[in-house]
Formats: sequence, structure tokens, C-alpha cells
Amino acid sequence: MSVAVVLFTSDLRLHDHPPLWAALAEADEVVPLFVRDTGVRAAGFDVPHREAFLADCLTDLDDSLRRRGGRLVVRAGPVVRVVREVAAECGASRVHLSAGVTGYARRREEALRAGLGEAGVTLHAHDGVVTAVAPGAATPTGSDHYAVFTPYFRRWSGRPRRDTLAAPRAVRVPEGVRGGPIPARRDVAGASPRLPEGGETRGRERLARWLRGGISAYEELHDDLAADATSRLSPFLHFGAVSPTEVVSRASAHGGAGAEAFVRQLCWRDFHYQVLAARPDAATRDYRTRHDRWRSEETAEEEIAAWRAGLTGYPVVDAAMRQLAAEGWAHNRARLLAASFLTKTLYVDWRIGARHFLDLLVDGDVVNNQLNWQWVAGTGTDTRPNRVLNPVAQGKRFDPSGAYVRRWVPELADVPDGRVHEPWRLSDAERAATGYPAPLVELAEGLARFRHARGRD
Ligand code: FAD
Repeated sequence: MSVAVVLFTSDLRLHDHPPLWAALAEADEVVPLFVRDTGVRAAGFDVPHREAFLADCLTDLDDSLRRRGGRLVVRAGPVVRVVREVAAECGASRVHLSAGVTGYARRREEALRAGLGEAGVTLHAHDGVVTAVAPGAATPTGSDHYAVFTPYFRRWSGRPRRDTLAAPRAVRVPEGVRGGPIPARRDVAGASPRLPEGGETRGRERLARWLRGGISAYEELHDDLAADATSRLSPFLHFGAVSPTEVVSRASAHGGAGAEAFVRQLCWRDFHYQVLAARPDAATRDYRTRHDRWRSEETAEEEIAAWRAGLTGYPVVDAAMRQLAAEGWAHNRARLLAASFLTKTLYVDWRIGARHFLDLLVDGDVVNNQLNWQWVAGTGTDTRPNRVLNPVAQGKRFDPSGAYVRRWVPELADVPDGRVHEPWRLSDAERAATGYPAPLVELAEGLARFRHARGRD
């Protein structure tokens, strides 16, 4: 009886899972394995919102495998040691997994290849599972990655896509392979009750609903903060509970301006993956240095604390920060405004903001979080690195009725429409009655400091 192991990582699904199909094709029995890797814990990635969502994903994966005659084997420990043990216990000669992109994922893959190799077990890492187009599969002449989005998008759009794979009907797991308990969301302390339920089943339902409805209006509404009219598929994509290839294929087949705009946004995800694959140090270092001498925890302690708490005195920024804390998720426009305010108006190091986001975001991911932060800070791939988003003008434009601000900043609930993005224009008595803080800094002052720092004054 031949046995293969499938190590699940950022691909917690049964549909469109090439490593699982490869294992099923070559072996009589398959061990679907998830390792609660002590290395991930040590790196500080195991924050409550993502742990809770992960628990749902694992529970759902186990349920789906059981319906197919199998089960999920969950173990804890250092990943290489655990995978070696499992392979030895069940006599597997091959381990399949999805190729990773981050520095951590690559080191894990190398260590697995070496560690398993010593035991005579081969590792097969499958490309194009965690992204629709594998990093490195579309490169410009003379470089290992695209540094600008638009030409990447053109190339990415023109590539043939592989067919989406169905979920297998049956998965036979060898008897006697020991597994620990599947983590449960209720055991995770500190996760928001507003967090959506995770897992492939919920992800597929959300995708189907999105394709039936919201996608058609995406082009007009995706930047409308109050409408909240984006797919909210990001945590499902982060954990691989839905397949990016499948989402792109089904959205493309849907057609129309909304679907086109949505697919373009999904391409941003792959774009960032291929940048980070080529430049893993972009997770922590400037992709393009602007020779910034950022303000830090030491030099801007109070301003950073006010930003984190959603008390900057700029309503749309505060609404964004409060949504992030309350939901573990924030609208893309809100993320942009909060990040621009920290890096450009307060001139604080983007890494401080990125860490705070990673501590809270349910979709928080080193690739998209760090590279979006760098984009906003002007140290990344933005072709206009010195642009500064004005939170008042942006608030009026993307939240014209003030409904988004009122939803998250209740102090301003009764402020008239014309003042909700500029509460400092209320009379002193009216403003005092709201209890809402005065602006932390004048926008003009922040702008002057930033321009000076970038040598633009
Ligand atoms: P939709 O608008 O429905 O878009 C569909 C999908 O496209 C998203 O789920 C996502 O996978 C992808 N996508 C959309 N916009 C972007 C983008 N700018 N970059 C990369 N992928 C994109 N996204 C993350 O997945 N993880 C993060 O940690 C993360 N951190 C961010 C930090 C900052 C400062 C900023 C400005 C953006 C960040 N984003 C991150 C990108 C974006 O904000 C989210 O992907 C999006 O808001 C998720 O909501 P949605 O699923 O409803 O998106």
C-alpha cells in the first residue's frame, strides 16, 4: 500500500488543490496533514483574529475530508520534525505541498527538502496554488519580476489559466496515524465577535453570493466606504479557503465592468507576491529607498498611540482604525487613508503601522500588508511616491454622507453632514459636546514636514 503526505499550509481547501490531486494520483492512501508550527508562533504571526479564522478553516477541512472517508491530521511542533515523523510512521515516500513565497515559507521548504531527503522522502512543491499566476511565471525581459503594476497586469491577463480542479470524491487516510485535537474558535481568546466564520464552505458560499450579486456594482462602489460593497474574500484568500485561480476564472467568466475591475484587484495580490518572491527582504526593508529618516516609537510616541486608538481628530482616519480594531478588517480605502496619515502626515516609519495592521487583520499577510504599506509610504512600487492623501478631501469624496464615519465614530453621530469630516468647524461648545479630539497635527504642517524630508520643498 503506497502512502503520500499532503502538507496543508496557506491552501486550506479541497477544491482546486493540485498537491492533493498529485498525492491521490500516485498513492493508495494519503495523509492530509496540518502542522501547528512552533516557528509561526515564534515569528508572532499567530494573532487572535487569524487564529480564530484558522480554527474555523481547519474544522471545516476536517469535516469535508470526513465526508469523503478521510480526516485531517493536526499535529503541533517544529514543522520539519513533525512531517518527518508522520512520513516515517506511515511509510510515505513523498510529501506534497503548495510552493510558498514569503521568506518564512521558503526557508520552511528548504528545511523540509533537506530534512526529508535525509530520510529518503522527496518533497514536491507545487507552483500556482496560493496565487493565480506563480511568481516568476511572468517576468519582463532582463528582470526577475515586474516593479510596476500596469505592465504586469497586461502580461498576467494574457496568460492562459490552468483549469480549476474539482474536489476529490474520496480520500483514504491510513489507519492509526495519530492526530491532535482540531483547534476550535471558542478556545481562541481575544478574537472579535464580529469576525466572519472561516473555512472553505463559507468561502465558497461567499464567492457564489458575490458572483450572483455584488460583483456587478464593484466598479462603481468599490471605493464607497459606507456602501461596504467589496467581496470581503480576503481572509478566505489569505488562508487559501478559496482558490485564487478559481476566483479569477469564475469572475472572468462572469464578465462586465464590475468583474473586470474585480479581477484587476485580484491581480494586485499576485503582483505583490511576485515582488516579494524576488525581493524577500521587502518584508522589512524599503523596496526603493527614499532615504527617509522616519519618526519612531521614541520620537512620535503620543502620535502613534493616538493613531492606533483612532483618536487623531481626523474622522475618516479614526473610523478606519476603529473598524480595524473592531472587525479585524478594514475597507481598502480606509486602509489607504490610515496608512497615508501615519507615514506621510505624521511621517512615522511604515514598519510601525504594518506591524499594528498585522497584529489585527484577519487577512493580515506579510506579502500584501508589507507591500501595500510600502506602496503608501512611497518606498514601494507606487510610480508617484510623494503623493499624500488628504483625509478631509478623501473623506468627502469617498464618504460623502458621512455614514462611514458615523458608523465607527459615534461621537460624531449627530454632527451635521457638512461638518462630519471637519468637526473643528463646529462651534467650540458644539465640539466640546461631542467629546471628539482636536486634530493631532495640522495637515499643512504634516505636508511641509514630509515634503522637506523628501527634498521636495
Ligand atoms: P476586494 O475589493 O473585494 O478585492 C478582491 C481581492 O483582491 C481581495 O480579497 C484581495 O485578495 C485582492 N486585493 C484587493 N486589493 C488589493 C491590494 N491593494 N493589494 C493586494 N491584494 C488586493 N490585503 C490582504 O489580503 N492582506 C493584507 O494584509 C493587506 N494589508 C493592506 C494594508 C494596507 C496599508 C493597504 C492599503 C491594503 C492592504 N491590503 C491587504 C489590500 C486590500 O486592502 C485588501 O485586500 C482588501 O481590502 C480586502 O477586502 P476585500 O476582500 O473585500 O477586497
